[in-house]
Amino acid sequence: MSKFITNHDVTDALKEVIFFAKQNNIVDLNMIDDIQIKGNDVKISVIFPKLDDPAVGIVYNSIVKTIKDKLGEEINVEVKPIAEKDKGMGPLSGVKNIIAVIAGKGGVGKSTVAANLAIALSKTGNKVGILDADIMGPSVPIMFGVEGQQPGVIDREGKTLMVPLENHGVKILSLGFFVQPNQALMWRGSMINNAFNQLMKDSEWGDLDFLVIDMPPGTGDIQLTLAQSYNIRGTVLVTTPQKIATADVRRAAMMYRQDKLTIPLLGIVENMSYFTPEEYPDKKYYIFGKGATDVLAKELDIPVLGRIPIGERIVESGDGGTPIILNENDKTGAIFIEIAQKVQDEINKL
Ligand code: ADP
Repeated sequence: MSKFITNHDVTDALKEVIFFAKQNNIVDLNMIDDIQIKGNDVKISVIFPKLDDPAVGIVYNSIVKTIKDKLGEEINVEVKPIAEKDKGMGPLSGVKNIIAVIAGKGGVGKSTVAANLAIALSKTGNKVGILDADIMGPSVPIMFGVEGQQPGVIDREGKTLMVPLENHGVKILSLGFFVQPNQALMWRGSMINNAFNQLMKDSEWGDLDFLVIDMPPGTGDIQLTLAQSYNIRGTVLVTTPQKIATADVRRAAMMYRQDKLTIPLLGIVENMSYFTPEEYPDKKYYIFGKGATDVLAKELDIPVLGRIPIGERIVESGDGGTPIILNENDKTGAIFIEIAQKVQDEINKL
């Protein structure tokens, strides 16, 4: 097989499967409860109004044929029909949009952007969660002021689920709740994947408009597997303005855009863009250079979603557990609100 199959590919293919009783495709009719992909094996759980309906067999055959036609004859398709009345809450079935925040390397402010973006989305009327998958530097618990706390657990129909912590209007889970910082380097890829899958699927996220994932920086098997396993609506790239930083994020962007994995790039956030001294509020000093982000945006044909200035308050507020967007006196908050709006606009264009 020359191509990885992603949740995205399967969902796209399923849009061609029609449920005639309702004259629409099974994706738009919200009939897909769950999709699981392991190598060439694809398992799809589909919800039907009732199971003793001849339409079940028709849809079943149509799913198998469509997946094989579109994604390859070698794929083994298993369809599990579920009656409407028996449907469980499929994992993540209440989550409308998963957004991955990505960067070429650590230290560019990816977590800072992810945290402020999540709060900005919440402030503009959305239900939001954030999942910190950055095992090397899980800083989301600190930024949300929940460091040292542990998520609760709840029993749902015989299954134990984690209950995300909540602060600043956002539900929060982090790999950092489970890994001591000095252990992170010992974690193998498969361990990270398992922990990530638990945070995604064995957690009570409930209904969310956006689940923001703070991805590990760079490109590698971990990033690829995480991105491949979920229906990610789009990515937000974070870079600093230096040419060398934009070269790193270009590599990361290309990983998400390669033909094996077609996750839309929603746009770039340029962090540490310029410095404005307090005594000269109209001046902008481009300490790390200017222009490289625009070159990259043009090359990738995606918008620059916003430019965040360098600011001591950004560090203090992040370290203090109240991201800068919560400081009404700082102009940076308005920039993040605009970024959140543009992210939604880009999603609406997809
Ligand atoms: P990453 O997730 O890319 O590793 P972080 O968001 O953890 O980066 O940020 C790294 C450090 O840089 C943190 O101390 C953070 O407060 C600081 N930082 C992030 N953005 C800015 C900014 N615009 N101005 C000043 N410091 C920043």
